[in-house]
Amino acid sequence: MRPATEGSVTLVGGGPGDERLLTVAAVEALREADVVLFDRLAPHSTLSDLAPSALLIDVGKTPGHHPIGQSDIEALLVEHALAGSRVVRLKGGDPYVFGRGAEEVAACRAAGVVVTVVPGVTSAISVPAAAGIPVTARGVTHLFTVVSGHAPLSDDEHRHLAGLGGTVIVLMGVATLPTLTAGLIAHGATADLPVAIIERGYTATQRTTIATLATAVHVASATAVRSPAVLVIGEVVRFADTDDGDAARIFETASALAAVE
Ligand code: SAH
Repeated sequence: MRPATEGSVTLVGGGPGDERLLTVAAVEALREADVVLFDRLAPHSTLSDLAPSALLIDVGKTPGHHPIGQSDIEALLVEHALAGSRVVRLKGGDPYVFGRGAEEVAACRAAGVVVTVVPGVTSAISVPAAAGIPVTARGVTHLFTVVSGHAPLSDDEHRHLAGLGGTVIVLMGVATLPTLTAGLIAHGATADLPVAIIERGYTATQRTTIATLATAVHVASATAVRSPAVLVIGEVVRFADTDDGDAARIFETASALAAVE
């Protein structure tokens, strides 16, 4: 075994799920890893090829269910690094976008473990792109906000978000969609604002559902939308390249649904 001083932790952003969206630095870190701790949304189907000499530890979390707790994950990172291993912590998207990367870096530093971060392609931008939606577009919007929908937003946050305009991108937002859409409308967002829900981006079962702020809850329930999904709210949704063709027709359907509610 190498001396303890050689151990390290590298937090690696794995991108939105397609291995081709791993960075070169991510591939290098995996190739050299002795231990890899990976998440459910990190690309892991061919991890044994990407990290041929590594012990692979699945710390995957499903919503509301944490097989390995956060403090145990941090303890594992530190323990393996102090034992001299090159540890990769492979996360979905970017480690610092709702990824608890900051906590893991702090835990490593507190234990005197050398820690570095390899940024990743975040789902916040890439999953909309997979559906043909640009998060900004000249003449349409020069502003986008990325929000966690893990817990419902406060009244104040709904008000600020509605007042800010631009594109709103919500991660982990399927369960809190009803409070979000109601909160935005209550604070002056237009009920006709287009909404896209992109499920399972970069997988064979990727699906885009289009609605409006007023119809999103109804449409999401009618089409059985499930996590993981990225929500996009704003005029840029009109650029969407939808699975079932004509986006204009879907907007008409959404308006018709709104009319009957
Ligand atoms: N650090 C990650 C986000 C972690 S939070 C990043 O930068 O992408 C997990 C949330 O990300 C999911 O609930 C979902 O909202 C979103 N997400 C991640 N990968 C996704 C994918 N392939 N398709 C749709 N949503 C995804």
